[in-house]
Amino acid sequence: MSKKPDTHPFDTVLVANRGEIAVRIIQGLREMGIGTVAVYSEPDRTALHALVADEAVFIGPAPASESYLVMQKLIDAAKQAGAGAIHPGYGFLSENAGFCRAVEAAGLVFIGPTAASMEVMGDKLASRRKMMQSGVPVVPGTEDAVRDPAVAITCAEKIGYPVLLKASAGGGGKGMRIVRSAADMASALRQTMGEAGQSFGNDAIFVEKYIENPKHIEVQVLGDGKGGAIHLFERECSVQRRHQKVIEESPSPSLTPELRARICEAAVQTARAVDYRGAGTVEFILAPGGAFYFLEMNTRLQVEHPITELVTGIDLVHAQVRIARGEGIGIRQEDLSQRGWALEFRVCAEDPSRNFAPSIGRIEAMSPPLGPGVRLDTGVYEGFEVPIHYDPLLAKLIVWGEDRPRAIARAQRALRDFTLQGPTHNLPFHLWALDQPAFRDGTYTTHFVEKCFDHTAWLPALTDLDREALIAAAALLENERRAPAGAGAGADAHGDNWRRAARRAMTGHK
Ligand code: ADP
Ligand code: ADP
Ligand code: MG
Repeated sequence: MSKKPDTHPFDTVLVANRGEIAVRIIQGLREMGIGTVAVYSEPDRTALHALVADEAVFIGPAPASESYLVMQKLIDAAKQAGAGAIHPGYGFLSENAGFCRAVEAAGLVFIGPTAASMEVMGDKLASRRKMMQSGVPVVPGTEDAVRDPAVAITCAEKIGYPVLLKASAGGGGKGMRIVRSAADMASALRQTMGEAGQSFGNDAIFVEKYIENPKHIEVQVLGDGKGGAIHLFERECSVQRRHQKVIEESPSPSLTPELRARICEAAVQTARAVDYRGAGTVEFILAPGGAFYFLEMNTRLQVEHPITELVTGIDLVHAQVRIARGEGIGIRQEDLSQRGWALEFRVCAEDPSRNFAPSIGRIEAMSPPLGPGVRLDTGVYEGFEVPIHYDPLLAKLIVWGEDRPRAIARAQRALRDFTLQGPTHNLPFHLWALDQPAFRDGTYTTHFVEKCFDHTAWLPALTDLDREALIAAAALLENERRAPAGAGAGADAHGDNWRRAARRAMTGHK
């Protein structure tokens, strides 16, 4: 069989990740007839991604720095299992140019962009500069790193307070600090530099205008690596806590067709500027007046990619694989449109009443919602012990509806149908959010949670399941009270579960 010179065929892929995203990638690969290899750390021996893959390779102890982040272990595992390519997922090594280079140097295909475009986009200062050259609007601010508070103050006075100090190497919502006056600049700069050096090994900080009441709008793109790129429209991700997304929707309720066309075009321009290869996301901040600015480009599959899949009908993992094989994008811009409305809810092991502090424990009961228009991307299952070592994201509930009101109604139904017991989680928070006027009318901004959500007064509304648990617990206790001592021992294990469930239902805690 003759191969086209530019193709990179592979028939087995190692997924260098864990949790829901590893499972989702494995599903996509399997649909393409590609063999799948998972990697797992000590506490992930029985994790879903390790169980569902064709093969799973042990890569070391719990800390990611000794397992999921050790490049050589991942490359060795791929070689050992006969994989021809590595898919990095998101987080971990997915945006690490050194990993991309090491994978390619080992003769494997990296399912993602080139190391060079990752380097430009992985550095917020470098990508800002690149965008300024390419004519994509960036948030007003400094072009270079700032170490001297006097320079930062001069810049802040030019663009006007408040400003945001941002770590050039930051990510995951970390490494940012708002400064509202010159008096606070010196200490804020010192602290942000210290934290950035600690967390990202790079203390370069820049100043940009802090946009009040903005919306976070991002655009999914696919590039062929040769300057060709298309967009798959936008996602709005303004429901955030600690600068991290919790609910996303597509389309955005805030864009007119005209604004949508301009922002999507800016995203395509961004991808072209770096000859982008594969799937990526260009993030923008949308100011109340309708001006939008480039924030950053995420050079990987994004957590919230499923909402784009539901409204465009395109499978992004399949597209990533096609591009990595050198087969091109395989989709024409003019064939794409947005159909209906999709919402994603990040289901996290965290406690809304304790300011979303992470929670852990065994998944005692889990029965996900089913039915029309519902998708669940999960990394956990009933009986799984959620490890403390990783991200608290357990699963993502994604719904599709013909329009926004119907998607919201479906989301409410699905969230209520979702049984999840064990670690404290944020399903009740999602139901709360859907009830808020600002969410309902689509005017919510990135300040939505901090403005509308009072975690100190938070008492989750009882879900239908909690209510059932309470009723069942009450019935069991009543039976036990009536039964003679020693009888009904068989019901005990069951009764304990219900009692635990009832206690949780009443307190919102374990
Ligand atoms: P997305 O951008 O895909 O919507 P997030 O911004 O929440 O999602 O990031 C995806 C995952 O990657 C999260 O688990 C986040 O903690 C992690 N992450 C992203 N960037 C970094 C970084 N620079 N350092 C550490 N973790 C990161
Ligand atoms: P990360 O790499 O951590 O994802 P981003 O630059 O994408 O960093 O910013 C994350 C979030 O922080 C944005 O979605 C937005 O809510 C907020 N943010 C970032 N820059 C600004 C800004 N200039 N003004 C207001 N909010 C901002
Ligand atoms: Mg971001």
